[in-house]
Amino acid sequence: MSKVLILGAGYGGLAAAVKMQKAKIPFTIVNKHSYHYFTTLLHEPAGGRNDFEPYSVELSEVLKGPEATIVKDEIKGIKPAEKKVIGKNGEHSYDYLIYALGNAPEFFGIPGLQEHSLLLRSLETAKEIRSHIEENFAAYAADKDPSRLRIVVGGAGLTGVELCGELAEYLPHLASKYRVPDNKIELINLEAAPTILPMLDQRLQETALEVLTNKGVQVRTNEKIVRVGENEVELATGEKINARTIIWTGGVRANPLLSEAGFDCDPRGRAKVNEFLQSVDYPDIFVIGDSSCFIGEDGRPLPPTAQLAGQMGDHVVDNLQALMKGEPMKKFVFNYMGTLASIGAEVGVGNVKGFRAKGVTASLMKEASKAKWLINLGGLSLLAKKNKQFTKSY
Ligand SMILES: Cc1cc2nc3c(=O)[nH]c(=O)nc-3n(C[C@H](O)[C@H](O)[C@H](O)COP(=O)(O)OP(=O)(O)OC[C@H]3O[C@@H](n4cnc5c(N)ncnc54)[C@H](O)[C@@H]3O)c2cc1C
Repeated sequence: MSKVLILGAGYGGLAAAVKMQKAKIPFTIVNKHSYHYFTTLLHEPAGGRNDFEPYSVELSEVLKGPEATIVKDEIKGIKPAEKKVIGKNGEHSYDYLIYALGNAPEFFGIPGLQEHSLLLRSLETAKEIRSHIEENFAAYAADKDPSRLRIVVGGAGLTGVELCGELAEYLPHLASKYRVPDNKIELINLEAAPTILPMLDQRLQETALEVLTNKGVQVRTNEKIVRVGENEVELATGEKINARTIIWTGGVRANPLLSEAGFDCDPRGRAKVNEFLQSVDYPDIFVIGDSSCFIGEDGRPLPPTAQLAGQMGDHVVDNLQALMKGEPMKKFVFNYMGTLASIGAEVGVGNVKGFRAKGVTASLMKEASKAKWLINLGGLSLLAKKNKQFTKSY
């Protein structure tokens, strides 16, 4: 029996594991945590909307079948020539590997950015953001330092905009909890490009900008961050902004293990794959999700998203089965469903299959995509369980 190893239990790796389980093919999945977290929703608990519990699910709750072996380990290296990967706790060998370790932050060489900014990329980092902001609001009473109430979010893509939308609703509640004057709160969203949400059309970008502005967010486009110091952001114009909370959402690259292992990668560190999602270097390794450089119809790599990772995870299992049986594999074709951005709990913007959606409609559609993922993982019972947990925390 061939040994199939899946690295990563995010959107790509877990989609593959769920399908392997349904197909009754034995596999081992290795992940840093014993749980899967809902990365696409992390802005919600980071921005105070709910408690953290609903945003993850134990892998053992999803992968219950005898086919699944779950291993908690942190992968430190890949040795493709020896068909093994090196973890913190030991080595893991394979006949076929599905690599789905996601991304790493991209700091674009901006001095001080890595050292002095918070990131939104896991359950732990979401908790860090929330407690850091709360600690500063709590400490304001003692020193009245205005930089404690100033929050800078770098990047106005999906993550930055969604986080600002949440924070704009949450901060007034935090202000009243700590008796902070809410007219002293400043939430600044800095973006180097001329527009926010580049994946949406101009009308939707304008709607999102209006919603954010009405919620009190200072959205500043064409503002390039050139340096970050402790509690200070410096812009290309020379302006310096003092803020105790600096959050970077401006870019991602692939997990560095691929380039370190000598895979043929694009400039963002993503391993180049063929039309079947196999690494161009090693046919026994499939690379999916944010780590994969798959060239789309326009000749450019497809942008990293959860919907892409999920579809790749699903497809890769068909190809793996074909490869094992010596049958022809199928080309991967991405079915773009659209993009939805929530801006706070009740409104959003986006497009779904070419149709524009705004306000409550977009927000409800985002909820529907959340439900779809939960049903895929654990059926209606998981959806019902999670829905009970999603109770507002303020
Ligand atoms: C706040 C936010 C909002 C987003 N919203 C959307 C959205 O609305 N729609 C959308 O399509 N996309 C969205 N994205 C992007 C989306 O989350 C990613 O594209 C998606 O998670 C990529 O899936 P993946 O399987 O490649 O990686 P991930 O989902 O990141 O999974 C990687 C897994 O590998 C594990 N791991 C990493 N390194 C190691 C290691 N060394 N050893 C062991 N395990 C490891 C991680 O813990 C994780 O479980 C959003 C991202 C963020 C941060």
